[in-house]
Amino acid sequence: MTLNNPITIPLPNEVRLLRGGRFMQRYDGNINYLKHMHDHFGEFMLGAFASRHYAPGKLLERIWDGEYAGKWLDAATHAALNSHDQDFVAMVDEFAAKLRSYQQEDGFMGEPLPSDRDLNDWELGWNVWVQWTSMIGLLTHYELRGEPASLECATRIADWVLQTYSPIDSDEAAFIGQGRGFTNVAVINQLMRLYKHTGNEKLCNFVDSVIQHFEPLRKMMETGEPHIAHPYMLCATLTGMVDLALARNDQQSFDILVGIWRALVNVHQFPTGSLGEDENLYEGPLNDNPDGKLQETCATTEWIFLTQRLYEITGDAEFAEALEKTSYNALVAAQSDDGMKWCYYTPLRYSKHFFHGPTRCCFWSGPRGIVRIPSMIYASRKNEIFVNFFESSTAALETQNGSVAIKQESQFPKVGSTRISLSTLSDWSGILNIRVPTWSEAFTIKLDGNDLTTTLTNGSMRIEIDGSSEYVIDVSFSIPLTKELLSENNYALKRGPEVLSVDLRDNNDTWIGKNDLISIPDEIELYPADQQNPWPGFKKTPKRPRYRISLDDRRTTERMDFTFTPYADAGNDGAAFRTVFPLTSE
Ligand SMILES: [Zn+2]
Repeated sequence: MTLNNPITIPLPNEVRLLRGGRFMQRYDGNINYLKHMHDHFGEFMLGAFASRHYAPGKLLERIWDGEYAGKWLDAATHAALNSHDQDFVAMVDEFAAKLRSYQQEDGFMGEPLPSDRDLNDWELGWNVWVQWTSMIGLLTHYELRGEPASLECATRIADWVLQTYSPIDSDEAAFIGQGRGFTNVAVINQLMRLYKHTGNEKLCNFVDSVIQHFEPLRKMMETGEPHIAHPYMLCATLTGMVDLALARNDQQSFDILVGIWRALVNVHQFPTGSLGEDENLYEGPLNDNPDGKLQETCATTEWIFLTQRLYEITGDAEFAEALEKTSYNALVAAQSDDGMKWCYYTPLRYSKHFFHGPTRCCFWSGPRGIVRIPSMIYASRKNEIFVNFFESSTAALETQNGSVAIKQESQFPKVGSTRISLSTLSDWSGILNIRVPTWSEAFTIKLDGNDLTTTLTNGSMRIEIDGSSEYVIDVSFSIPLTKELLSENNYALKRGPEVLSVDLRDNNDTWIGKNDLISIPDEIELYPADQQNPWPGFKKTPKRPRYRISLDDRRTTERMDFTFTPYADAGNDGAAFRTVFPLTSE
């Protein structure tokens, strides 16, 4: 997997979701949510920089509350540009300006820490964290709005970090010792992001010294194994390490980091595409801990950012498929169906608890994942176009030979069918790559009505586009029902990329408790379930797909039919649900 083959991910204003797709309703709900957060928490977000309350003998208040402003700015800048809503864009610009106004002379964001007493570990440990999240929002604002003052502000934050903590020449350096876990080192990913804009080698040298002297990072590079850590912070830090490898053209380190990413997928990731329990990774088999503190939404989104960065660097379909898995499952599952509520943890069984603390970090992280969905559907490289998700949408993509308009009218995930229309300049020629998901079967393509035989290249069907200016490509495939391992004898059922769950709104009187009454037989088949309004006690919720699958039930001699619904839609309205079942033993 080579470092020198980058792909271009479209900008937020270049792709629009269309009605009828899987994500549009959730995307629009997210825009409402972001505006609501601004109207109700705008001052609160900035307040963490405006004042620091503390009384003798008490902790400094709002130690990590500064993280919300930068995270909101990151998500809202994407959403505002995608929506083409000028009032929303103005709201974002004004917020960025207010945030910048809290920068101190020395670059530090927010009121200085108290200097008339010793700070405790907790207070010191979260100090760089909010500098990091400020940089996230400001750099997004610069990249997407071209506002030089936001770049300047982010640059001065980085100056403060480097000036305060350089040199890092031992494992006992303050930068290493003061962080709580990875709270300090996470900043390396924004230092490397800033490097892309400034080319300041001091940033690379600082990040390099962090990797050399922070033992968990050094060990990861020596062993190629992920460090057992907070997955939110770990993914953020790995992104910085990936970008240093890229800046130094260090293929060997890059390969080690890809290996660590794969180990996270193979050992630590739930079938739903996120990771961690109780904000941590752990050794040993993954557990379907009932009502468990699984899949912190911050970890889900930071996993997406790491994976999308690897995709951007390599264009490799492996990463596109991983993005699909997390987006269709863990990400959307953590969001309420109207987009106005978020889970902190998203379990595989029992209940979703929206707006359930103890902290609020995730309520600002989830929206950052949703806003990136349009950027996952397409990509381009020279004169090649890539279709990665089968989502109804339009896009205007820049290629070497000029821009290409693309429209996708998709039936997916209802059925495996999508129509892709391309409009190009009359002399445009290039390649259209359509990702063939590893879960798909019987994948066929027609170009302007004619069957095409192409071979699979790097996970995609390659189609030569030439000789016209309008093309219609019909893609069809079947979506098999598969079993995806959680651990030991326990599996989730999956239809294509979507994990399915038994939701009690569809399965009254079904036992989904600790006892494993229900189990998965060898042969499983899926049929559409045509139930109407299965449990009338609930408010009207968006239509959910439902499927009928026959499973074994210890209470009966015959198989029993159960109704499954996508994990992403299960458990809304507070309904109990279950996702993982054992295989039937002989
Ligand atoms: Zn969180």
